[in-house]
Amino acid sequence: MKKISVLCSILVFLFLISSLILAQTPPDKFLGHEVGADRKLADYDQIQAYFQKLDRESGKIKVLTIGKTTLNKPMIMAVITSEKNMAKLDTYRNISKQLRDAGGLTDEQAKKLSKEGKVIVFITCSLHATEIAASQMSMEFAYKLVTGDTPFNADKVLDDVIVLLAPTINPDGEQMVTDWYRKYVGTPYEGGRMPWLYHHYAGHDNNRDWFMFNLSETKAVTKVLYHDWIPQVHIDEHQMGSTGARLFLPPFMDPPVPTIHPLVWRGVALCGTNMAYDLQKYGYKGVVYARNFTGWWIGACDDTAWLHNSIGLLSEMASVKTATPIYIDPTEIPDSLIEKRIQFPDPWPGGWWRLRNLVDYELILSMSLVKTAHLHKEDFLYNFYKMCKESIEIRPEGQPFAFIIPEDQRDYPTTLRMLEILMFGGIEIHQAKEDFAADGKLYPAGSFVVLMSQPYRPYAQSLLEKQKYPDLRESSGDNPIPPYDNAGWTLPLQMGAACDRIEKPFKTALEKLEKVPYPSITPPEQSASYIILDTRKNASSSVVFSLLKEKAEVYRSKDCIKADHFHACPGSFIIKNTPQVQKQLPGLLKKWHLTAYELENVDNIPKNPLKSHRIGLYQSWRSSMDEGWTRFVFDDLGIPYTTLHNKDFKGKNKKKADLRKSFDVIVFADESPEIIKEGKPDPTSRWARYFTEMPPPYKGGIEKEGVEALKDFVAQGGILVCMNNAGRLVLKEFKQIPASNILEKVDRSKFFCPTSILKVKVDNKSPIGYGMPKEAAVMFSRSLAFRTSVPSGEWDRQVVASYPKEKILMSGWLLGEKYIARKPALVDVKYKKGHIILIGFRCQHRAQSHGTYKFLLNALLYPEIN
Ligand SMILES: [Zn+2]
Repeated sequence: MKKISVLCSILVFLFLISSLILAQTPPDKFLGHEVGADRKLADYDQIQAYFQKLDRESGKIKVLTIGKTTLNKPMIMAVITSEKNMAKLDTYRNISKQLRDAGGLTDEQAKKLSKEGKVIVFITCSLHATEIAASQMSMEFAYKLVTGDTPFNADKVLDDVIVLLAPTINPDGEQMVTDWYRKYVGTPYEGGRMPWLYHHYAGHDNNRDWFMFNLSETKAVTKVLYHDWIPQVHIDEHQMGSTGARLFLPPFMDPPVPTIHPLVWRGVALCGTNMAYDLQKYGYKGVVYARNFTGWWIGACDDTAWLHNSIGLLSEMASVKTATPIYIDPTEIPDSLIEKRIQFPDPWPGGWWRLRNLVDYELILSMSLVKTAHLHKEDFLYNFYKMCKESIEIRPEGQPFAFIIPEDQRDYPTTLRMLEILMFGGIEIHQAKEDFAADGKLYPAGSFVVLMSQPYRPYAQSLLEKQKYPDLRESSGDNPIPPYDNAGWTLPLQMGAACDRIEKPFKTALEKLEKVPYPSITPPEQSASYIILDTRKNASSSVVFSLLKEKAEVYRSKDCIKADHFHACPGSFIIKNTPQVQKQLPGLLKKWHLTAYELENVDNIPKNPLKSHRIGLYQSWRSSMDEGWTRFVFDDLGIPYTTLHNKDFKGKNKKKADLRKSFDVIVFADESPEIIKEGKPDPTSRWARYFTEMPPPYKGGIEKEGVEALKDFVAQGGILVCMNNAGRLVLKEFKQIPASNILEKVDRSKFFCPTSILKVKVDNKSPIGYGMPKEAAVMFSRSLAFRTSVPSGEWDRQVVASYPKEKILMSGWLLGEKYIARKPALVDVKYKKGHIILIGFRCQHRAQSHGTYKFLLNALLYPEIN
């Protein structure tokens, strides 16, 4: 009897121990507060630690590191599925891949694979770091899935579905936002915006990078999307303004990108309305669909799925002030959201709104999506195959057969970079093994061919063709109905690469590229006295920046340089070949895939000396994304610079700041003159209502004092570069400047051009136009067009680029072409000893428009004119 009771005690003890080991820790217990509690946030370190703990406690979750952030944090993603599936993840990833590469499968084989396979659902959270609710929710969502605390039979559902959950795809931002919030909680600045971007380079624009892959975070997630896991369903969870609907869910509104398969939109609507249905079932109010967010691609995270034949979804919760609750008075709700509508059957009446509300909505919608994926498992897998198969086999009427990217390009290294970008997005590229003809034009062997017959045809076509944004107005006198963001994005135009659309089928020997064929670079023999770098290639400038750092003697040619073995454009770099240059050059040329030429004698070449310029880049405390992208371009191309803040424009001891003493070039990225000068938007602008004061160290702008310091800087020989709207500061503040912005007061019903690509004519013999083609494609985005005049006094001006007389639009949408026809787009204004470079468009737009980088590079490498 005693023996039995001892045995019993041991068994009970073992049971308790094992349940202790196996029990999963709920996030509130781990964090010490409820998820989404008022004024409480988990930061990235805590989120990571929680997921790792859950991984140790459950066989249904596995935490993977999918990459590194820009600031070197690990990016984590949890895989959540049944334990049985967990043992066969590679098999299921492979099935996904097989279904995507549909060409080799029969319908029967695809059906079999759809039965055997598991649907992969990717949930990404808080890309926009201030939209922080989803990152918090992710912990509770994971916990509920692994413990079966779900509105469905979790065992059954997780047997069909593999959930990929990234608690945040902007970990650096998550940490910045939580640190900032904690610092100011309990002060008047609680829940206010940060003075810097919530991604080191991109801020909010980290959701415009999903075809360009500039950011390490985009790269890590894209690897999951189109290389490693190939999910059929992807949702990216966001937040929007506070006073409107409580939640936006798809379907989206018009217009759609024409190349997207209709089944994508049906799948999106099916998942979106199921989420709305489930929320309604539990009494959640204020859910809207088919408003605000369109089916026009903006290079956003979830949207990119549409072009890859996958179901791409977006959720947008109404925000609180980071973690601080807000009260919305019923009268503050917009008129359009107080009546019941079909897309909005249950208006929210107003009242208190807290972070926990957001977490609750997001838990339901995320659960609903997983359930829908389970209910339609075979359908989603098979239709993914079907869409990819049709992309390969069916060429719709009037659609191109291929695009050809000739090997002979003005800037070959940049073209190769474009191929790298296209391939990373999942595009198949071939290279011709022989000379051939297509649409009546001859192409040499080595040309790159992007056949439209490929699984991701909608994506390939959308990136390579010119966009025509549809005018949705009922009558031409109405105000334009703008797209959500850009109307045009054509990548070869942005990157300045020649690319031909081919309509008729052709046959030639093609080889599929496994990687980009970078040429092997042979450095010059090093015997000649001078090295020549062609200014048409952006990489030449990068090499020159490095050599200038080493005190190299550099000139820019005033004219073409013609020799037996090469021909270089005006502005090309002539570098004296010294032992130091010889040491550096081979490595630099290899790094930039650049060819250099040699010349023994340069006596007869007209040229100007080029000095190493000290570059300053202005950064306001209102977090300008264009400043961030400019910084990205500088870092990417190896350009040395110093960041300048408002205080640097103000002198000490009642003296004006002497900017010229420390700088040769000062760059202002696109920003409004009011923000630069006063740190506040123009009170009449539509941005004014979003303005909130910053804590004292970050208040104000460069002030009048800073403007005066800039005038002195230019007068004393400095080069002031003003990109896009920054130019308006100079036009306003520098009296007698012989230039004005003709679009300053033009009504948008008359002239409208939402982020689109326009044609300009370039004077490529002028120092700012060096290396550019005579006709170029520029990105117009809330941009300027100038009128110059005959100068007086100590002023002068040189028009570097201007819009042509007609046919200005290349991709996107342009209303009122006549307003900018024949008008300057870029002006080099001379004032006393210095220059003001007014670049009226976005020449380094989102670090995408490599084709117009040269305008900026030339301003930074302005030679001494003699
Ligand atoms: Zn967002």
